Amino acid sequence: MRLLGYPLAELEALLRGWGEPAYRARQLFEWLHRHNELRFSCMTSLPGPLRARLEADFGTDRPTVLDHTGDDDARKLLIGLADGERVESVLMGRPWGQAACVSSQVGCPVGCVFCASGRDGLARNLAAGEIVGQLSILRAMAGPIRRVVFMGMGEPLLNLEESLTAARIITDRNGWALPTRNLTFSTIGIVRGIRALAGSGDRFRLALSLHAADDTLRRELVPRWSEPLRDVLRAGTEYAEAVGRRLTVAYVLLGGVNDSTLDARSLAALVGPARALVNVIPFNPVPGTSFERPTPARVAKFVACLHEAGIRASARRSVGLASEAACGQLRRRAARCAEADDRCTDAQTKEDDR
Ligand code: SAH
Ligand code: SF4
Repeated sequence: MRLLGYPLAELEALLRGWGEPAYRARQLFEWLHRHNELRFSCMTSLPGPLRARLEADFGTDRPTVLDHTGDDDARKLLIGLADGERVESVLMGRPWGQAACVSSQVGCPVGCVFCASGRDGLARNLAAGEIVGQLSILRAMAGPIRRVVFMGMGEPLLNLEESLTAARIITDRNGWALPTRNLTFSTIGIVRGIRALAGSGDRFRLALSLHAADDTLRRELVPRWSEPLRDVLRAGTEYAEAVGRRLTVAYVLLGGVNDSTLDARSLAALVGPARALVNVIPFNPVPGTSFERPTPARVAKFVACLHEAGIRASARRSVGLASEAACGQLRRRAARCAEADDRCTDAQTKEDDR
C-alpha cells in the first residue's frame, strides 16, 4: 500500500535513485492506478530485475479484506492495515454506477455523539497509500467506480496532507484519472482545513456535515469540534464559489432531536443563500447511543419542508441496519469479537490452572 501513496513525481524520484529512466515511473504509475494492477509479476512492460526489486521492497505490503457485510446496494468492507489496525470502506450501487466511500483516519478525534467512528477517539491518521489502497480493493471487486467520497471513518480535513495526496493520485491523468468533480471531501466543518483545501488549487467537491441549524444544538451533537455554523458555512460557500462546484450539506436526521418542521425551516434559511444541495441521512442506530431513527413519514416531511422553501434536497437511504453496519460499526464489532476471544482465552487459562 505504501507504493500506492507515491505521486508520479515521487515514483520518478524513487526509480531515478535506482538508476531507471523516467518513463519507467510513468509505466509503473499506469499499472498501479490506471490498470489497478498490484502484482509486480504481471507488469509485463517492466524489465525483470526492476520487478524483482519492487517485489523485494514493496511485495508484502498488501491490503487485506477481513470482513464484509451488505448487498449489491451497499457492501461494507473491513480492511486490515499492515500494523493490524482496521478501517471500513463502502461500495454503493447507484443507478448511474458505483460509488466508493473511503476512510481517512483510524477512528476519529471529533466524536460526534451519534457516530460509531468517533466513539474510541483517533487511533491514527491513514497514509495516502492506505486511502488509495481501499479504492484499489473496491475497484478490483466492483470494476469501474464513478464517484469517490471521503465519507468513511475519520475527518479528512484533520488529515489533509495525506487525504489530498490520495485525491491527487486518484485524479491524476496519468493514472486512474477520476474527474475531480466526482471526488467529494466530506467534513464536519474544519474552517482552516476548508481554507487550506481552497488554497490547494484543486477542484474537488465539498460536503459540509451540519446536522443542526443552530449553534446550541450543534455543540451538543458535535461537542469536541464546534466552530460557529456561520463561519463553517461561509468557508464552505467561498470554497464552492472558488472551485465552481455546488456545495453539499449533509444532515443526519435524529428522531425528536433535529427533525421538526421548525428545524427544516431553520436549515432552509441557513443554507438557502449558499444554494447548497441538502443530503438528509436518517440516523442509523449505533449501540450505546440513545437516539432514535426518524420514521419514514417524518423523513419525508422534513425533505418536503426543505423543497417548499426552495431547497434542493433528498433523503439518502440508510444501509446495513440489519447487519449492524452504520459508519464505524464493523470495526467496533470486530473489536468486540476480539475482546470476546480474549475473554474466552482467559477463562480457558483459568480452567487449565485449576
Ligand atoms: N468526518 C466527516 C466524514 C466522515 S462521516 C464528516 O463528518 O463529514 C460521514 C457521514 O456519515 C457524515 O455525514 C455523518 O454525519 C454520517 N454518519 C455518521 N454516523 C451516522 C449514523 N449513525 N447514522 C447515519 N449517518 C451517520
Ligand atoms: Fe468523525 Fe465524521 Fe463521525 Fe463526526 S461524523 S465522529 S466527524 S467521522
